[in-house]
Amino acid sequence: MRMKKIAILGSTGSIGTQTLEIVRANPDLQVVALAAGSSVEKLEAQIREFRPRMACMWSGEAAADLRARVADLDVKVLAGMEGLLEIAAFPESQVLVTAIVGMIGIRPTIAAIEAGKDIALANKETLVCAGHIIMPLAERCGVAILPVDSEHSAIFQSLNGEVADRSGRRAGLYEKAGIEKILLTASGGPFRGRSKKQLQNIRAEDALKHPNWSMGHKVTIDSSTLVNKGLEVMEARWLFGVGLDRIQVVIHPQSIIHSAVQYVDGAIIAQMGVPDMKLPIQYALFYPERRPMAGRRVDLFELGQLTFERPDTDTFPGLALAYRAAEAGGSMPTVYNAANEEAVELFLREKLPYLGIAELIGEAMERHRVIEDPTVSQILETEQETREYAARWKRL
Ligand code: MG
Repeated sequence: MRMKKIAILGSTGSIGTQTLEIVRANPDLQVVALAAGSSVEKLEAQIREFRPRMACMWSGEAAADLRARVADLDVKVLAGMEGLLEIAAFPESQVLVTAIVGMIGIRPTIAAIEAGKDIALANKETLVCAGHIIMPLAERCGVAILPVDSEHSAIFQSLNGEVADRSGRRAGLYEKAGIEKILLTASGGPFRGRSKKQLQNIRAEDALKHPNWSMGHKVTIDSSTLVNKGLEVMEARWLFGVGLDRIQVVIHPQSIIHSAVQYVDGAIIAQMGVPDMKLPIQYALFYPERRPMAGRRVDLFELGQLTFERPDTDTFPGLALAYRAAEAGGSMPTVYNAANEEAVELFLREKLPYLGIAELIGEAMERHRVIEDPTVSQILETEQETREYAARWKRL
């Protein structure tokens, strides 16, 4: 059996643990390195089960704790950004699964690409903030960026058979594939159909109830504000090399069509399935091979109908702001993302009203002067400045 060796950044989070479920079901996948933020006990259990050669905890204290706990095993325990970078470039791994949340994913992703690893990309911020660096670098290094996000995986799957190169190393090929439009679907979140007035007193516990997908807190809030869709528009733009005017967001409350591609002859090819992240994760790990997977199936008879709506960008300005940030380009998407991260954090701690999230993003963008083609340090500086601005921003 030929083993495929993978490293996972963010192994204790939602995508990370589902990736490990795929590993359990496929004996030819081997985990060689795992990294997590601060969940020492969870990471210890994962190390005991999957026996990676390397592990990393973001916090130094947690790393020291973990080191003591797994002293009986042959595993090197690292800490912080240095640890993430070492894991990203670990010679034994072939694929890096980037399942950490936030801009801390950018540098490890670059390190992995430079070391020739294919990327199973689940960290949105990497392309949103640094797509102009990542995509050309991946092309130069001949590595594949395989989308794990369900929508981008659906688009990727809908392009199968249209793009000649099945290696996944495909920059520039999409233009030739005859894409007219990308139809990026969104569930609309728990507040679809509500008015602004009805959203005034929304609390964190209401926003954390997503109708279809089970995800981490940050992304659940982001899907209720449509900011998640905004980030996905920016991601799609880089992954598939299409202009913003050709990416259309479609509200589809049943979350069965995970996204679609409309071609120049009018044909629409869509990928459908039950909302389950394990399919896009597995597809990225074995691309171009399709592996069997147990689990629920879509029952079209039970479903009866699929419905579609235009997004309401007046009530949910987070999406319109994303298009504006993407159009401005340069460092602006970083401001959009960092302001949102801070705003969501404040909202979850009940320090910011629900509608304040988009307000804060909008004002942070307004005061920012765009840096064209920002370097990674400029991106991280912009992030820091935006966070400081957001921390001072008070509207209660
Ligand atoms: Mg998604």
